[in-house]
This record gives sequence, structure tokens and C-alpha cells, in this order.
Amino acid sequence: MFLHCPVPDFRANLGYWKRALQLQDWRVSVMLVPAAELDSNAVGEMDIAARDKMATIRILREQDSDLPRRLARADQQLTLVHELVHLKRMVDGDAWHNEAETVAQTTALVRSHHRWREAAAIEDYKGWLSNNPSGASKTPSPLKAAH
Ligand SMILES: [Zn+2]
Repeated sequence: MFLHCPVPDFRANLGYWKRALQLQDWRVSVMLVPAAELDSNAVGEMDIAARDKMATIRILREQDSDLPRRLARADQQLTLVHELVHLKRMVDGDAWHNEAETVAQTTALVRSHHRWREAAAIEDYKGWLSNNPSGASKTPSPLKAAH
């Protein structure tokens, strides 16, 4: 089905962050999905089959985002990292649902790797939000409310 096709653009970044987080032995797939397939206000979710070391990350598709296009795409890449950090935390036995710690860890990771695109998404989102305060409730960034 069209909406569920894996997205080639995410492959390189997925490979990069799997290596960075030492998750190479996991099979992770990424799908872009409509808002209706995510929890309300979520921009990303992950299904994990721990025994099989498989994970599926679902990310809000660009056309359902309230963010400007450039920001929406950067936000998708950041969501990918955020969900992988959740996975890494689970593997390490940390409190993997802890959203505040996951956000902090994601931010630190992106900055330490000098990944301009994801880092720009963090800064752009803050700037955009200050001009669009109502946007926060509609399309939370993974920095705020992704699962
Ligand atoms: Zn999260």
C-alpha cells in the first residue's frame, strides 16, 4: 500500500544512527503514515518485537504536518533519532518510556554528532513555535510529545 512504503530518504540516516547507537543487530524499518494512524498529537511511534530484534518506526507524513515543509522534513529526521533513542534505552535497560530523558538524550546526541539537519530542526522548531504558539497543541515536535 502506497502510504506504507518504506521511505528511501530515511535509509542513510537510519544506518548512521543505528551505528551511532550500536543498534546494528536490530532490523528497523521506517514508515511515513497519516495522522490517523498515530496517537493524537504524536508525530512518531514505534512498535518493537524485542525477541526478534525488530522495530517499526512510524513517522507522521509531511502532508499531515502543520509545520512548514522544510521544517516538517527536518522534524521527521529528528523523530527518527528520537525513536531510536527510545529503542537504545530499552536495550540498555533504562526507563525507555521516560520522555524528558529521551528528549534530552536525543538533543545531546544530535549535537555531539554535529548533525546539522537534526540540530537545525531543534532550533527551527523553537523559533517557529515562538511565532506560532497555537501550533504546539496541533503538531507537537518529538521534542515535546512524541512517544
Ligand atoms: Zn518519545
